Amino acid sequence: MIRINENYLKLQSSYLFAHIAKRVEAFQAQHPDREIIRMGIGDVTRALPAACIDALHKATDELAQDSSFRGYGPEQGYAFLREKIAQHDFQDRGASIAADEIFVSDGAKCDTGNIQEIFATDIRVAVPDPVYPVYVDTNVMAGRTGTFQDGRYEGLVYLDCTEANGYVPALPQEPVDLIYLCFPNNPTGATITHAQLGQWVRYAHEHKALILYDAAYEAFIRDESLPRTIYEIDGARNVAIEFRSFSKTAGFTGTRCAFTVVPKSCKAHTADGQVITVYDLWNRRHTTKFNSVSYPVQRAAEAVYSPEGQAQVRELTDYYLNNAAFIRQAFTDLGYPCVGGDNSPYIWINGRRDSWAFFDLLLEKAGVVCTPGAGFGTCGQGYIRLSAFNSFANVQKAMNLIQTALT
Ligand code: PLP
Repeated sequence: MIRINENYLKLQSSYLFAHIAKRVEAFQAQHPDREIIRMGIGDVTRALPAACIDALHKATDELAQDSSFRGYGPEQGYAFLREKIAQHDFQDRGASIAADEIFVSDGAKCDTGNIQEIFATDIRVAVPDPVYPVYVDTNVMAGRTGTFQDGRYEGLVYLDCTEANGYVPALPQEPVDLIYLCFPNNPTGATITHAQLGQWVRYAHEHKALILYDAAYEAFIRDESLPRTIYEIDGARNVAIEFRSFSKTAGFTGTRCAFTVVPKSCKAHTADGQVITVYDLWNRRHTTKFNSVSYPVQRAAEAVYSPEGQAQVRELTDYYLNNAAFIRQAFTDLGYPCVGGDNSPYIWINGRRDSWAFFDLLLEKAGVVCTPGAGFGTCGQGYIRLSAFNSFANVQKAMNLIQTALT
């Protein structure tokens, strides 16, 4: 008799964004003539940078000739891309990361979701609250939690991110083994300083823990004093894996390219205390279950690091940051406390009422779709997240509609 992985039955309804989509669909069906401006899901709206498009065309033409055709690529990614990443994103910032410590993949969602499978099922896992739901759900699927009670899974350690702590969680009171951190943060848009990140790195050393550092929004950092990678922190090479993505950096949400950095000095342990190199496990997992990102897409990602690519990516991220500043100002003027939007494309707004009630209000009165903070965890209750990924014209229109709806 075929049986299921019963951990899946512990999962809460559908994935958050699928749930939102259903509510918006129902509203649209009832009001077919109403315009809806979607500022909920964090999907980019602008075209790929010209440098990436040129590289895509060129690489596609190479595939059209037997002499330059390429089949399966190296599972970990082509050297031309791994070397550019290591140089520009790490070595140029004084972070000692080698090209062969970069694993190119088709998304940070997959990588942040898959990484947990190389660790034991009975480790203690700490996740931020509010949280990017992938970290939690994949640990539920793997059986690292009990059931869902009062908005939280038994067995997980939740790291509260609140207005009071500036959305940077305090170190846990109880020892944990695997720690998920995300900065600039989704959903709050908050950032972390060197000193704060240093505390986490020290904690990981002291507790033989490992940090999973999701820096998918690194390209939005404008404050030069903030760390761009966890490897700017002394000792992080031994205790941290970092996730990056071209999705928000260069508009690759549909094109798909990301990478995970697994330093060879990261160690983990067997139950009887044997020391194991995490790199070897991830390399084994990646080469067994993944067959590389397509050649044209890796060439397009490489183009991000050309001088033209760098300028175009900067222009692209500046555009979204300008939207973000506009949104933040509009809500601040309306008297709603906000965070994010300065080094991040997300604005986290204290709606001073139930998140889903605020979601319904904005949808019904202004035709604007947000993401209810409660969908990201109990600490998100009372908040909403707005995404700056839209045209400036739409952002202006949405803020006007919201101003009318809320005053
Ligand atoms: N990590 C965070 C924090 C995200 O917000 C997202 C996407 O929204 C991802 C990872 C996924 O990125 P990718 O498109 O590379 O799968």
